[in-house]
Amino acid sequence: MALLFSNATILPMDPAAGAPRTFTGWAGVEGNRLTLLTASADAAAAFRAAHPSLREIDCRGKLLMPGLINTHCHAAMTLQRSYADDISLMAWLNDYIWPFESRQTPDEVALGMTLGIVEMLLGGVTSFVDMYYDQDRCVEVAERLGIRAVLGCNYFDSNIEQVFPQVERAAGLAAAGSGRVRIAVAPHSPYTVSPENLVRGRELAERLGLGMMTHIAETRDEIRIVRERYGRTPVEHLDALGMLGPHVIGAHCVHVTDSDMATLAARGVTVSHNPQSNMKISSGVAPVETMRRAGVLVALGTDGTCSNNDLDMWEELRTASFLQKSATGDPTALPAWEALRMATANGARAMGYADGELGVLREGALADLIVVDLQKPHLQPIHDVVSNLVYCGKAADVDTVVVDGRIVVEGRRIEGMDLPDLYARVAEAVRRITTAE
Ligand SMILES: [Zn+2]
Repeated sequence: MALLFSNATILPMDPAAGAPRTFTGWAGVEGNRLTLLTASADAAAAFRAAHPSLREIDCRGKLLMPGLINTHCHAAMTLQRSYADDISLMAWLNDYIWPFESRQTPDEVALGMTLGIVEMLLGGVTSFVDMYYDQDRCVEVAERLGIRAVLGCNYFDSNIEQVFPQVERAAGLAAAGSGRVRIAVAPHSPYTVSPENLVRGRELAERLGLGMMTHIAETRDEIRIVRERYGRTPVEHLDALGMLGPHVIGAHCVHVTDSDMATLAARGVTVSHNPQSNMKISSGVAPVETMRRAGVLVALGTDGTCSNNDLDMWEELRTASFLQKSATGDPTALPAWEALRMATANGARAMGYADGELGVLREGALADLIVVDLQKPHLQPIHDVVSNLVYCGKAADVDTVVVDGRIVVEGRRIEGMDLPDLYARVAEAVRRITTAE
């Protein structure tokens, strides 16, 4: 059924659309594509006439924009949200995170993934890039909930033999699905995966035609370890192994040299900037403005809910901008518009979509869009709607979410989702995992 969003403040986030950045108008969806974007009442009337059974949604007082794209998270780690905070990194991993993960079943991972996707959809995230285990189990979850995703199969040296068959299974399931879910190969990092196993991952990705993702240069410890072992920076090390290219997302890239940035730009790697995680784990401040000036494509992500502790991209937008201003001493650093581009068009490119196909509102683009309710005290008055969104917007302002032409959230509700039942199942799973021997 065709959809027509009427009387909306439309923010296309499309540089090709030029100024003004917003206009009042109509957006029509047929199948999974946006086929009408207009300020003309006549064009809207013609669309109505051509689709007698369409569903029309009045968006007076609301804003229509592309859905947000979270380019780095570990959605199933919602089960560990606030499980272990305010402790040192090694104690956090050794005493809490890894024991928890060793006890959870694939069904429990899928449950955590469900909670994570629900949180993201309700906050206006229409696409996400994930990195975790049991992704062959999670393809079904992402398909059922209607979100768009790249699911990265995370491996270390210790579990590569279990994970590689999962990659093949997951890729097969994704290929047989809606096309919204893609699979990627995800070595954890250059310091936890050996050079041989990094190359094996690259060869697997090449053979199956998949993207890749990894954590890069997240902490000073990582820089020290990689330099001691290989005599190089993490970026130099990965590049020497032929691991870098436009199909690769590098999460964090906090501690990168000028030469590393030139390499990331030359290879077309997307950097996923995760400011709240970097702050919470005391990783440092990624040089986002310097990377952008060096021509690196930078997108935005939340990281997992152990190091954030939510999957709220609105907070991430605001934090990204404020953190660059704070760290550089320059209030013009990372303006609101550029932060929002990182969370939309840049994220789409990171996921492998062609320019203009996703992350913008444009006739012919995929219909991934959100309706934001502007009738909120913190969003009034409106001198500059982009500033309001980035500096004041909240996940709870998102009213309606469309992915691939289908309404998945309406009036802040996910159709068919019994949230109290989900929370009860999550509580039960967490009780079992934390009390298991
Ligand atoms: Zn991560």
